[in-house]
Amino acid sequence: MSEPVPLIEVFHLTHVYHAGTPQEVRAVHDVSLTVHRAEFLALVGGNGSGKSTLAKHLNALLLPTEGRVVVDGLDTRDPQALWEIRRKVGMVFQNPDNQIVATVVEEDVAFGPENLGLPPEEIAQRVEEALRAVGMLEHRRREPHLLSGGQKQRVAIAGVLAMRPQCIVLDEATTMLDPEGRREVLRTAHRLREREGIAVVHITHNMEEAAQADRVVVLHEGRVALEGTPREVFRDVRRLRRLRLDLPEVAELSGCLRRRGIPVEGQPLDPGELAAQLLRWCGVVV
Ligand code: ADP
Ligand code: MG
Repeated sequence: MSEPVPLIEVFHLTHVYHAGTPQEVRAVHDVSLTVHRAEFLALVGGNGSGKSTLAKHLNALLLPTEGRVVVDGLDTRDPQALWEIRRKVGMVFQNPDNQIVATVVEEDVAFGPENLGLPPEEIAQRVEEALRAVGMLEHRRREPHLLSGGQKQRVAIAGVLAMRPQCIVLDEATTMLDPEGRREVLRTAHRLREREGIAVVHITHNMEEAAQADRVVVLHEGRVALEGTPREVFRDVRRLRRLRLDLPEVAELSGCLRRRGIPVEGQPLDPGELAAQLLRWCGVVV
């Protein structure tokens, strides 16, 4: 693989809400982090660990109390760069019903490009491409409220895509969905990364989803507590427990097997890999 190229750089970011008042909250504390082009980064951590606050800095919805965030060379504190940053980094939030503004799917996706003041033919082309990329083109004339949760989130992603972004931030965008909806959205995000080279920052409580990322960053009380490939991060079982995080089920199972004396090697992250090791250990040729 080629060298990773930085897209978003977070330097010593601190975010304090209601600074200098009795309600002061230090939500993010001295966080440094890089999001690379076309990488799939999972951001995990307990409730209130600062994930959403950090996410909102990635497209200048919040500005640093201290430190700096640079998106594709643009400093989020530069007011002139604001709209360009918001176009480059799109956000999709948890509740699919709060993000759709129009009464027809394609009109909803057109909303962003219309605000950019693009010519109608260009808007139509972007809407079509975006809906096709998320597998929703056939639903273009439907009313969004009739769609499933997973379909609504894919429309929300299409709305971001129509802006031709370089990064999509999914802030618990799968949390409210059923398993099928979750799979749809995740598959879509992985496909966008692979085909369009769009970076994805996926905030999730679901460790199975995090295990599919290129890299996992764990936040705890506003700081980066762990960072690495899924194999590196999910190997540190005790640490994760202390941070009150779940493990992917296959990592739990590997732990159980090791405690019973079965030498599981490395950190299998998919059930097939663990099953193959177990069968070999049992002397079954696979
Ligand atoms: P997470 O997304 O990991 O659950 P958040 O970034 O939402 O964490 O919150 C981090 C901390 O900041 C929490 O203590 C939360 O209560 C606080 N917080 C979040 N948003 C606000 C806000 N708008 N005003 C004041 N405090 C906030
Ligand atoms: Mg949050």
